[in-house]
Parts: sequence; C-alpha cells; structure tokens
Amino acid sequence: MSWQEAKAYFGKNDIAIVPVGSNEQHGPANPLGTDHLIAKEFAQEAAKRTGVVCLQVIPFGVSPHHKQFWGTISIQPKAFKKYVKEVCLSLKYYGVHKILVVNGHGGNLAALREIAREMREQNVFISIFEWWPAAENLLPDIFSPDERRHAGAEETSVNLALHANLVNRDKITNEKPHTHALEMSGITLPLDTVDETSSGVFGKQTAASAKKGKEVFEVVLKALVKHIELLKKTRMEDLSLKPKI
Ligand SMILES: [Zn+2]
Repeated sequence: MSWQEAKAYFGKNDIAIVPVGSNEQHGPANPLGTDHLIAKEFAQEAAKRTGVVCLQVIPFGVSPHHKQFWGTISIQPKAFKKYVKEVCLSLKYYGVHKILVVNGHGGNLAALREIAREMREQNVFISIFEWWPAAENLLPDIFSPDERRHAGAEETSVNLALHANLVNRDKITNEKPHTHALEMSGITLPLDTVDETSSGVFGKQTAASAKKGKEVFEVVLKALVKHIELLKKTRMEDLSLKPKI
C-alpha cells in the first residue's frame, strides 16, 4: 500500500487488523517463527475475506520461559506493551477506533489485555483473537488434550497446512512433560519450558497432519471472519466508555 492508498482506506474505514506473535522454540521439527507465521496467515486471510486492512506482523513477543532453547528472541512485557501500543496509537491518528489483534502466542496475552484496557479509555476498542482456544471450542474432538499443548500435534498440523516446507518431519517428537519435584496443587512455581521438557515439545506431535491443520485453519478462520464482520458493524458509540445514564 502507498500512502495515498492508505489515505483512501483510512478515510472510509475505522478498523484494522494487527497480527502479533513470537519467535521461540517449538521443538526440533517446527520453525522458531511458528507463532508469528500462523498469526500472520490467519490475519491476512481474514483481511482478504473482510476487506479490512492488515498490518505487518509483529514477530517478537514475550517468551522468556523458552530462552534456554537457542534462537528464542524475547521482549520484556513492558517494552512489548509500549511497542504494540504505539502501533495502535499510530492507527488512531488516522481514525482507526476498532482494532482486531490476532495473537499467535499465549505469553503475549497479559500485555495485550492491558493495552486493550488502556486504549479503551482513549476510545479505541481492541478485540484480541487467539486461534487455539477457538479451535478447542469449535473442534473439541480433533485432538486429545496432550496433542493440544505447546508445539504439540495441533500446532504442528497448522504448520503443515500453512507452510509445510518449514517443518522437518524427520524430527517429529513426542515427549511427556515431566513434573517438577516441587510441584503441587495450590503452588505456583517460576518454571521455564526447560524444567519440564528437554526437546521443547509438550506432548504428542505424531498425530499431526496437514489435513487436520487445514480443517482447524478453515473452521477457526470462518469464526474469525464472523467476528470481524460484527465488529465492523458495531457502532463506536456502543463500544465507548461513558458514565451510566
Ligand atoms: Zn506456539
């Protein structure tokens, strides 16, 4: 898009899509970029189907719990929050009041929630979308719980469906995460991924297939498109915060 095309779009539309992800280990078979690559695909395809503009994906996120695995790039929550917020404020300058954040990495959610809260005070409504809870809800039977965890069969399947060339099938791994000696119910420990799994995989990858990944992508995408269409139609005056009448 040129600046003139951007002017034409923002002159008529008050909504935009911002994909965010991470660059972190996903076991020996999957690329480090898994979370931002998947977020980008969902966001771009949703943009195509709804006519809403999609920004470039923000590839780095909050991943300190994976850093012992080489190649993980982690941003502190404070810096991540400030950066993503500045992106939203730039959009606001051009009249955007509704933003759909497509988040590909669970570790970003706490910071994104804070941004959404703060931006609502500034009359910008941010909707945060994550594909895996949507998939679990829409397709409860396609994977077992241990296939749905970090770098498991579900994520590997979506990788196989969207960018199979980036998956090293010879390195597909199953690993049952081990329980730390200090774990017990009611106790929260500051554990990193390396404390629970040596390959970086939580659970089973062998059940992964491109077919299942395609199904997840299509079903979840349809739900996402529906949400965007609804967000588009909702009037800002019904979303903005004001004292109760
Ligand atoms: Zn992931």
